Amino acid sequence: MKVRTLAKAIQGRSRPSSIQFYIYRVSAQLHSIPKRPSFGIAFDIDGVILRGRTPIGDSPKALKRLYDDSGCLKIPYLFLTNGGGIPESRRASELSQLLGVNIDPIQVVQGHSPFKNLLKRFENELIVATGKGEPAVVMSEYGFKKAISLEEYASHFNNIDPLSPYKTLTTKQSIPRFDVKSERVKAAFVVSDPVEWSRDIQVLCDILRSGGLPGEKSDHQPHMYFAADDLEYQAVFPSERLGMGAFRIALESIFNSIHHKPLEYTSFGKPNPFVFKNAESILKQLQQKSQNFETLYMIGDNPLVDVKGATQAGHPWFSILTRTGVFKGKDNHTDYPANQVVDSVQEAVEYILQREGYL
Ligand SMILES: [Mg+2]
Repeated sequence: MKVRTLAKAIQGRSRPSSIQFYIYRVSAQLHSIPKRPSFGIAFDIDGVILRGRTPIGDSPKALKRLYDDSGCLKIPYLFLTNGGGIPESRRASELSQLLGVNIDPIQVVQGHSPFKNLLKRFENELIVATGKGEPAVVMSEYGFKKAISLEEYASHFNNIDPLSPYKTLTTKQSIPRFDVKSERVKAAFVVSDPVEWSRDIQVLCDILRSGGLPGEKSDHQPHMYFAADDLEYQAVFPSERLGMGAFRIALESIFNSIHHKPLEYTSFGKPNPFVFKNAESILKQLQQKSQNFETLYMIGDNPLVDVKGATQAGHPWFSILTRTGVFKGKDNHTDYPANQVVDSVQEAVEYILQREGYL
C-alpha cells in the first residue's frame, strides 16, 4: 500500500486505538519496503558463468536470484568480460537465451567496449580491426565510419601474405570500400582473439612500420590498441588456452626484432583500473541513484585479471575468486589473493546476499 493511501486510511479513523494500529502498520510497511541496495556485482563470463556456450553449474539459477518475482532487476549487476567479437546488443540477447534471464545491452561490458571512447579521434579515419567474430562490424556499430577487417584489408594487397596459397581458408577479394592503396591506416584494433596469427602479425607489422601504408617506409607508427591482455583463459578444453595477451607478446616480440623502435600500444580490459571505474558508473545507472556504492563485488576465475584488477581499483571493490576456471587452487592465490575464495558462482552469490543481509 502506498504511504498516501495509508495516511488517508488513518484520517478516516477516529478511534485512537485504530490510529495507533494504523501508525504501527505504516511503520511496519515502511520498514518492509526494500531499500535500494548499496552494492552491485560484476560477473566475469568465461570460466565463471559459461564454459564455451554451456552454463557452468547452476549459474542461471544464481543470476535469477538477482531479480524479483516479476523478473525486474533487484540487484544491479553487469558482465565484465575481456572477451568479445560481436556487438554488445547481440551478446546481451545471446546471454539472455543461454541463461534464461533478461539481460540489457548496458549490462554487457566487453574487452572492446572502451574503444567507443576513441570515436572522436578516429571517427572518419581509416582503421583496421581484427579478431574472431565480426571485428569491423563491432567498430562500425560504435560509429567508426571507415572500419575494415584486417582480413578484408589484406585481401587488397597481392602477395602480402606469402603463406595464403597454403591456407585452406582464403578470403575472396572484394571491391575496396575505401581507398586502401593510398589512404594510410591511422589505427589498428585487436577487438577479440585473433584467428589467423601468422597473417595478422605479418600485416600488422607491415602497417605499423610503414606509417599505415604497407610497402612504404615511415618512422611514424599508427596507433595500436588491444581490447584485453589475458595471457590465458579457460575455454572448453581442460587446460587454459592462449589469449590476446599471448598474441600481443608474439606481435611485440617480432615487431621489436624487425623494427628500430619498440612497439607502442595500449591495452584495455581487466585488470586496467579504467575498466573498473567504467563498470562502477554503469552499475550506478542500473541502481538508479547517485549515492556511492558501499561494496562492489567482482566475481572472477582469473587471479591475474579479475582479482588483480579489483584489488588495484581499491574501494569499493571486493574480489571473489571461483574455482571454476583458470584458478583451481585449494587455498587463496599467493600473488593476488582474493577477499573471498569460493567453489562456484552460486556460492559467490549466496555469500554476497548473506553478507548484505538479503537472506
Ligand atoms: Mg574468466
